[in-house]
Amino acid sequence: MLTTLSGTTAQVGSPTSAAPPAAGAAGEFSAELHRLRDRVIAVRCGNNNVGVIATAAGLIVVDTHRSPSLMRALAERIATDLGRDDFRWVVNSHGHWDHASGNQVFPEAIRIGHVRCREYVAASTLGSPRSRWSHERRLSRLSQRLADSDPTSPDAERIRVDREIERAVVADLDGVYLPTPPTRTFAERTEIAGHGVTVQVIYCGEGHTDHDVFVWVPEERVLFTGDVFCSGHGFCFSHHALADAPRLVSVLDEILETGSEDILVVPGHGDFLTRVDLVRLRGLARERFEGVRPEKSAARFLSDHAESVGWVGAANRLETAMRRRPDRYDVSADEVAVLAERWLGRGRVDDARRLLDWAIERAPDSALLWGLAGDARWRSGDAPGARRAYERTLEFLPRHRGASEGLEWLRLSAGSPPR
Ligand SMILES: [Zn+2]
Repeated sequence: MLTTLSGTTAQVGSPTSAAPPAAGAAGEFSAELHRLRDRVIAVRCGNNNVGVIATAAGLIVVDTHRSPSLMRALAERIATDLGRDDFRWVVNSHGHWDHASGNQVFPEAIRIGHVRCREYVAASTLGSPRSRWSHERRLSRLSQRLADSDPTSPDAERIRVDREIERAVVADLDGVYLPTPPTRTFAERTEIAGHGVTVQVIYCGEGHTDHDVFVWVPEERVLFTGDVFCSGHGFCFSHHALADAPRLVSVLDEILETGSEDILVVPGHGDFLTRVDLVRLRGLARERFEGVRPEKSAARFLSDHAESVGWVGAANRLETAMRRRPDRYDVSADEVAVLAERWLGRGRVDDARRLLDWAIERAPDSALLWGLAGDARWRSGDAPGARRAYERTLEFLPRHRGASEGLEWLRLSAGSPPR
């Protein structure tokens, strides 16, 4: 529990307005503004944290929430609190939609992200009809849950907030949202310096995605970590060969070695963490990944080689190596699924599809792989192939929600294009 934070809760938007909210308006939702240090604030809206660092030359926003109108309302709240609205930089911790969908609110800002974050955001399918339909379904599920819950319970309040946020997302998906990728990218690290406070943006290795970055403000002892940590007790990714624990540990070493005792950690979602949590998480990273053998992983091999020689070259190299030593590499469905999701996210749909076909030959009863094969086929415009793959998924795992939803969408859309 942090006792040094001063939090204020404010209604954002115009709840008393007589007129109905305009299309894309955020409507009424609550946001907590936490002044973490003199020059650093965090705004929590729903379960998302948005960071702001004030420099002499402008404001830096860390992550931009779930939709343009939500982010616009938060930006107004931040500007009112700080007495300034010179938003000059945006940093995306990673490209997931719930962290980058408000980027377009800052068209003049320099948007900073990992080079693969740019690919990920540029390939976003968030604005597709299928995605809008999926968010509308989520909105109606939230309304149903709210109707079923005790209206005075804390749970009902949480669902109400989530529903208002989801309502804003759905409204923005009706032609307002535009994928707005980072404009300034890097592979290892970059910094914003020379404006009274130095801000380091550091790639922390594959984990939650293949492009997670930390934002570290050493003079203020504040670290923004995106979705790498789910809490002070674990990571938002499994321990497998597509996570780079040694790199994460070395980045944490660098931050902890600064000696600051009162480090504040702002994760992408939920409660803030402390130095004690970081030390624990570094220990966990060492411990849990000890048995992971990246040199034995076929998915690791394909991931590394495909970056330079593409899918065909990587697959040929792997097949050659496996012919020479059949026991050299393990094909893990879980790891292949992570890699396929990453490639799909970055718009490398053909490579993902071929990777999944290759893996399904070796693990033909994996619902995980079949479900993703359905997504890959749908993304490449092959509706009949997607239908067959989703049906196979349900044969192996009848409760697979993604496959049921995929089939329902294919019925409703009668093969409309994926984007
Ligand atoms: Zn994420």
